[in-house]
Amino acid sequence: TTIPTITLHDGTAMPQLGFGVFQVPDEGAQASVATALEAGYRSIDTAAIYGNEAGVGRAIAESGLDRDDVFVTTKLWLDGLSREGVRPALEASLERLGLERVDLYLIHWPAPATDAYLAAWEGMEEIRELGLARSIGVSNFLPEHLDRVAALGGSVPTVNQIELHPALRAADIEAANRARGIATEAWSPLGQGSVLGEPAIAAVAAAHGVTPAQVVLRWHLQQGRIVIPKSVTASRIRENLDLFGFELTADELAAIDGLDRDGRTGPHPAEFN
Ligand code: NAD
Repeated sequence: TTIPTITLHDGTAMPQLGFGVFQVPDEGAQASVATALEAGYRSIDTAAIYGNEAGVGRAIAESGLDRDDVFVTTKLWLDGLSREGVRPALEASLERLGLERVDLYLIHWPAPATDAYLAAWEGMEEIRELGLARSIGVSNFLPEHLDRVAALGGSVPTVNQIELHPALRAADIEAANRARGIATEAWSPLGQGSVLGEPAIAAVAAAHGVTPAQVVLRWHLQQGRIVIPKSVTASRIRENLDLFGFELTADELAAIDGLDRDGRTGPHPAEFN
């Protein structure tokens, strides 16, 4: 399987399809990342708060793959949201991962009750300069937060990782990202499984002889987003990578767009502090 890459605005090439490990304990993360790398995934999405960076790191080390062939993302938790907080938080993540740098480091949430995320962005630029992360971005940022970051006058985040799936289309945020040259990465791309029983998705799946999860992931890919589906089940891990032998029509994409209904699974970014 050749996974397409997206070129971020700083020139970094990021696989468009990666593997997520939210809510997977450390040992299980090691096992599922090992399965994912074996299946052909080359991008892994973790976070300090997930408590499984060590397991992710062991799986990468034991895979035998060259470090440069695996794209690793981790995230800065709220306790590191200050200019001085970023470097020690990332160094602790790198220690757990057993890596010298990550490919992408994200501010996990803006926590906009204070402006700390703005100071943290300056810390993010420092760790990139130090070579501790190849690329820096954000997660769960609303357009107003992106504008505040841009007003600092430094660099623009390369990626905004947001909740986005058929039941939460987030078209306004995606458009705001695009207007700023920021790649949109969909978290909970399957709506944590909540959208897989939709009749409209089942109909498209039947038409192509694929599964509902494959339809939803293909919808994301054809609309240009980066996706990081999660599973701990080997057959599903492989299924979620098998997306390159069929293509959805414009009408099918539109039918899935029509499922948008504020079906948020996680917190609202304006309210999570
Ligand atoms: P997801 O949308 O990837 O759904 C995962 C769930 O869908 C699985 O637990 C399983 O129940 C089901 N599933 C997966 N593959 C399936 C298949 N082929 N057939 C049937 N059911 C299937 O949800 P997620 O784990 O919340 O999100 C993916 C990743 O996004 C996470 O692992 C994490 O890396 C990232 N994430 C980031 C944030 C953030 O705040 N930045 C928040 C949540 C998740």
